[in-house]
Amino acid sequence: MPGSIAPRLLDWFAGAARDLPWRRTTDPYAIWVSEVMLQQTQVRTVIGYWERWMAELPDLQSLANAPTDSVLKLWEGLGYYSRARNLQRAARQIVAEHQGVFPRDPDLILALPGIGRYTAGAIASSAFNLPTPILDGNVMRVLTRLGAIPGDPRQRETNARLWKEALELVVAAAALAPARIPPPGPPIRLAGPCSQLNQALMELGATVCKPSNPDCANCPVSSSCQAFALGSPEHFPQKAARPVVTPRILATVIWSHRRRWLLHRRSDDSVNGGFWEFPNIECGPVADPLSSLARWLGVGSDRLEPLGQIRHSITRYRFVQHLYCLTGDEVITPPGGEVRWVTRSELDSLPLTGAHRRLVARYLTS
Ligand code: SF4
Repeated sequence: MPGSIAPRLLDWFAGAARDLPWRRTTDPYAIWVSEVMLQQTQVRTVIGYWERWMAELPDLQSLANAPTDSVLKLWEGLGYYSRARNLQRAARQIVAEHQGVFPRDPDLILALPGIGRYTAGAIASSAFNLPTPILDGNVMRVLTRLGAIPGDPRQRETNARLWKEALELVVAAAALAPARIPPPGPPIRLAGPCSQLNQALMELGATVCKPSNPDCANCPVSSSCQAFALGSPEHFPQKAARPVVTPRILATVIWSHRRRWLLHRRSDDSVNGGFWEFPNIECGPVADPLSSLARWLGVGSDRLEPLGQIRHSITRYRFVQHLYCLTGDEVITPPGGEVRWVTRSELDSLPLTGAHRRLVARYLTS
């Protein structure tokens, strides 16, 4: 089956490939940055982030040498901030251990901080045309539907089977005669058939074999698709139940003094380490946010003026952030990290987590 599917995927991609900025290059650094940004984030959101990043940090050396605050600022709003920190750690490791040259060996790529099997496979195939498989959510969906493969694709045995099938496909593409492989036209530049096959699989999942209402009528591999033959593409993949949603409550203070605001920098080893935010604490499910915050700050509750709430989600957590304002020049000492009084323009230039950036936009515009 891979031998018959691979040529059809390559042919289809030659005509259907979207012109994305990271497809105009085979630079492993540029491809790596795009792959990390694309995890859990839509293509149209990533384009602007990627272009700003590449303009500011065009190569490994510039990323390795950049102040961490600048790196986090470029990532602000994408979430999953440990990814930005890992990008810089990996860049520094490449400079220190590989003379600043991105390694070609997939095992060496996999050994870099923050790079898993999918990302290593994507970089090795897209930048170096190596027959390394990839398996992300889009590819899982395509492969489980093609073979009508039952079971949760993240479960060990099913997952191993899918990796094996992804490998067979990219190896089949590598074995095709070059004349058999029409590449997409300029400005798209691909490293070769392995890159083209892997990107075709991802593209098919993103644009045709979508989670709901897959466009089977326009699918290049529908004649080989068992889920289509069964008339039930949307029954695949068979995912396990989602984890239970957990509510969490935060109390946050917007503390001002003479047109400056108190910010707290999260310690490097914490979640969202290195980002700045308004001082806040997590309250228990039955605790009163106002009195918890007053006790933590060491001030009377009557000095805290309620401002409202903002809600946001991170993975399975649903946060409700209760907001209070306070004036005065005392300074608290939160556990971990540092605090600093900042001006309005510093507030704009420092990296803030998404929820706190929303808070600035909503309450500190006038
Ligand atoms: Fe997906 Fe339909 Fe194509 Fe099968 S035929 S791979 S379900 S789009």
